[in-house]
Amino acid sequence: MRNRRGTDEPELLPPSDESEDGLSDRVRLLLVQTLYTHPSSLAIGAVNGIVSSLVAAWLSGARLMYVLAAILAAIAIARVAFAHRLPRGRKSHNARWLEIAYEIGAFAYAGMIGIIAAATIVMDLPAGVELLMVANALGYGTGICARNAGRPVIALGQLAWVTLPVMAACLWVGGLALYLLALNMLLLLPAMASITLNVFKMLRRSIGEAKKSRQLAEEMRILARTDIVTNLANRAGLNHYLDQAIAGRGERSLGMFWIDIDRFKEVNDLLGHQTGDRVLAEIGARLADVVPQDGIVARFGGDEFVMLCEVEDKRACERLAARLLSEINRPVRFNDERLEVKASVGIAAMPEDGETAETLMQHADLALYHAKANGKNQMAFFDRSMTRELVRRREIEGELRAALQRDELSIFFQPIVDLTTGKIRSFEALVRWFHPEKGELRPDEFIPVAEETGAIVTLGNWITAQAARAAAQWPEDITLAVNLSPLQIKAPGAALGILNSLRDAGLDPTRLELEVTETLFLEDSPTVVSFIEELSAVGVRFALDDFGTGYSSLGYIHKWPFSKIKVDRSFVSGPHVGRKSDAIIRAVSQMAATLDMDIVAEGLETIDQVGAVRDAGCNLGQGYYFSRPVPDYLAAMLLAQDRENDKLRHAFG
Ligand code: C2E
Ligand code: CA
Ligand code: CA
Repeated sequence: MRNRRGTDEPELLPPSDESEDGLSDRVRLLLVQTLYTHPSSLAIGAVNGIVSSLVAAWLSGARLMYVLAAILAAIAIARVAFAHRLPRGRKSHNARWLEIAYEIGAFAYAGMIGIIAAATIVMDLPAGVELLMVANALGYGTGICARNAGRPVIALGQLAWVTLPVMAACLWVGGLALYLLALNMLLLLPAMASITLNVFKMLRRSIGEAKKSRQLAEEMRILARTDIVTNLANRAGLNHYLDQAIAGRGERSLGMFWIDIDRFKEVNDLLGHQTGDRVLAEIGARLADVVPQDGIVARFGGDEFVMLCEVEDKRACERLAARLLSEINRPVRFNDERLEVKASVGIAAMPEDGETAETLMQHADLALYHAKANGKNQMAFFDRSMTRELVRRREIEGELRAALQRDELSIFFQPIVDLTTGKIRSFEALVRWFHPEKGELRPDEFIPVAEETGAIVTLGNWITAQAARAAAQWPEDITLAVNLSPLQIKAPGAALGILNSLRDAGLDPTRLELEVTETLFLEDSPTVVSFIEELSAVGVRFALDDFGTGYSSLGYIHKWPFSKIKVDRSFVSGPHVGRKSDAIIRAVSQMAATLDMDIVAEGLETIDQVGAVRDAGCNLGQGYYFSRPVPDYLAAMLLAQDRENDKLRHAFG
């Protein structure tokens, strides 16, 4: 059965200190197996015994010796044949019976070797024959005893079976030499007993240690795949199980449920990480109760959990996800606290939504993203039309209005510098959104959304008002540039909104410059005409932004009262910079000079770029080389610094 960690291991490891009996059994088992894995050594011993006894029978000519040799040969051949027929490395219950069979064979063979040697003494056969068989018996007895060291009963049993008949024969026939031989053999028994017992002890210890380290490695392996807070599988555990599940999936479908606790950060922030961990552990335990037998639930990290299991169809997925959500929604209680937890679930199925682990995960995650964007505490199935951009747009759309009230937006200012004097001439206002969860959002990302939803009108007015308030604090000769979106301009009362902002801030209209792009003029709209005329009349100036990226029609420059052209940064850096772009800048600069317009190079990042655009005829520059966009207090500092440098320049000529 699969446990909560999703591994095949039992929940708890067997106790590492196995009983003494168990360990001895293992040692014995191991030895039995190793013996039978080498039937060739058995065969060599058998051939030696048979040949020696046959030679002894032939030399002595005694019929009894032939009979004994034949019995020995029968036993030996039976043993070798038996060993060959046995399956190798077989473990467990067969081992016992194997062992008994082996012991009977071993004792019978040893006894026969002893009896043949004893017979040569009793029958008083020629000295050579006696010597051959007694030496053979003793050699075999001690040899087999050493080989079986570690199995004391077998080892000593065989030695006893070999030596006892010989000792008996020695005592029976008598004489000093034979008495001494019997005594020698008797002493051999305790000597070999001590050796075999020592080996047995050592073997047992080393097997015990090997087992312990194997267990330790196993424990480490499980730990590496387990999350300590929830005791569920962690990311590594999930990956491991996912691979297994995919490999064994066959025709069945797998469902992946990606679960994310809603607003978990608040739990951590308000109640502390310890409580946060307890909530996670509790949720983890509830999810583990819901996961089907063959599935797994893992903590993917942070407040995200992933459940994976076989599923029948979409309906089954839905039911399971609903159960997951209702389990999570049950209030969590600790001491006196009662906590309401909500979560979102993204669901993707294999093979329909993804054929690999990677796509399955990506799609479940994307579905989760949608569930969250749609208002959280709900489930969402993966759908091919889902993309991250779409979700992000929808999220931004939902949050933009609130962001204004929550003070998440602010205005940064980037200086525009006179390329001949190095002095700041104006600042461009650039909006910034510091989202509490998503971090800093780029205006390129949310301005288009604001345009689509119409929020740009409120947003634009707010930007102008904020920027004007900051600019009113600057020296009179420093102007403010504000970007205007075409949609903002086309809204009714757009000009009035701007004028109101200026009046409220106390900023003279002549100090404001509105940056617009060519797209504004693509359609000949009367609202645009009246907007520009109305503002120009009170002294507001206009700059043509991003020049060179669109149609770059010189017609617009001619038709509208621009005071400034901003050459796009793609002319300054990037793959298209070269002689051609240089020539365009030159041409535009020349025209701008004759029309008494400023020409600004955007995106200056290096001194070389500054030199190049200055040589090409740009009189103003903007870019990281001078300064990144900065908050208002830093803009004020840049200005103060500029004044200081100016004073120094005057003082030292
Ligand atoms: P833009 O009007 O062309 O503004 C200049 C952009 O270039 C800014 O990006 C600025 O941070 C960046 N920039 C300045 N110097 C360098 C440089 O040396 N290297 C590089 N790589 N970039 C530089 P940002 O602030 O991300 O604004 C992007 C665009 O978003 C702006 O392009 C503008 O079209 C729009 N935008 C920004 N603020 C506003 C706003 O308040 N209202 C409206 N309607 N649009 C805005
Ligand atoms: Ca601009
Ligand atoms: Ca620009």
